[in-house]
Amino acid sequence: MSKRDYYESLGVSKNADEKEIKKAYKKLAMKYHPDRTAGDKAKEETFKELQEAYEVLKDDQKRAAYDQYGHAAFEQGGHGGGGGGFGGGGGFGQDFGDIFGDIFGGGGGRGRQRQQRGSDLRYNVELSLEDAVKGKSLEIKVPTYVACEPCDGSGAKPGTSAKTCSTCHGHGQVQMRQGLFAVQQTCPTCNGAGKVIADKCTSCRGQGRVEKTKTLSVKIPAGVDTGDRIRLSGEGEAGEHGAPAGDLYVQVNVRDHSIFVRDENHLYCEVPISFVTAALGGEIEVPTLGGKVKLKVPKETQTGKMFRLRGKGVKSVRSATTGDLMCKVVIETPVNLSGDQADLLRQLEEKMAGSSKKHSPKETGFFDGVKKFFDDLKS
Ligand SMILES: [Zn+2]
Ligand SMILES: [Zn+2]
Repeated sequence: MSKRDYYESLGVSKNADEKEIKKAYKKLAMKYHPDRTAGDKAKEETFKELQEAYEVLKDDQKRAAYDQYGHAAFEQGGHGGGGGGFGGGGGFGQDFGDIFGDIFGGGGGRGRQRQQRGSDLRYNVELSLEDAVKGKSLEIKVPTYVACEPCDGSGAKPGTSAKTCSTCHGHGQVQMRQGLFAVQQTCPTCNGAGKVIADKCTSCRGQGRVEKTKTLSVKIPAGVDTGDRIRLSGEGEAGEHGAPAGDLYVQVNVRDHSIFVRDENHLYCEVPISFVTAALGGEIEVPTLGGKVKLKVPKETQTGKMFRLRGKGVKSVRSATTGDLMCKVVIETPVNLSGDQADLLRQLEEKMAGSSKKHSPKETGFFDGVKKFFDDLKS
């Protein structure tokens, strides 16, 4: 089945911003909303397409995944072995409420029923900053439920099959009368499955699924950060009695680094420099994730000064941008001075005495401030 391009569906360009996308969606959704199209199937399909397209394009993470992998990023279904897409999680159509309410004043009751789908699973992965920045392929072992092989997930002994439940005739629900009211209840005979297994499969005791530790390969995309998660569609627990499997979410946690502190896509680090370099200027080496680079320190640099190295941060997982590296220089006070060295410093101090205004801008400003403070107190 070939699907329409999401951008095309909304009639926006590939680099449309959030506002444009929302605007385009609202306009089209008004036109195609089922409340207004009186059962026109084609228009209903278009509306669904719009919803789906907006669902993806309004979410930076999903949009980035779509830009990279196309529709394949969100394909549902049980393709084996570590395929899956990159999604914000929670499934489609769940957080549609905001804009829906926006347009129509709330009340869009869509409860799509998911019958006994297997549970979603979460797997926590801890990464070093380097791996998070470069991306990594991992093998993970997940204890889960998989469809039972001998009975192919049906729960019935091989060669036999489940029979339609005679109490509910396969509906899974029965109507009970309570006074004037008819109440729908889960069928007590089949517990809502609609089918009864006379001869249970011995491997799974009729459950249609068995416990197993699955090994999956996961591709962590470059640029992920703590809190990001990667969805592997259909790699969660198998449902009972052949119901579809849930999804597996790989939750990323990035460990602290000994040198760099990360803030989104920017990196921060502190580099010590000597007071001579700070005073006279010079070149220092600073660490980046790609190795050392040289940084020119201008003369008369004060401690705490921040230098920005453009593009030396982290490449975003959601867009094509790359963050910067912020290097804060910290001036070190020399220690373990010999007598000679100390003498030289004293000589230097004497030479500068009497003209501290010229040599120590901060100190001058500070003591001027203190003087004013005490003068103000007196008056
Ligand atoms: Zn079985
Ligand atoms: Zn039944």
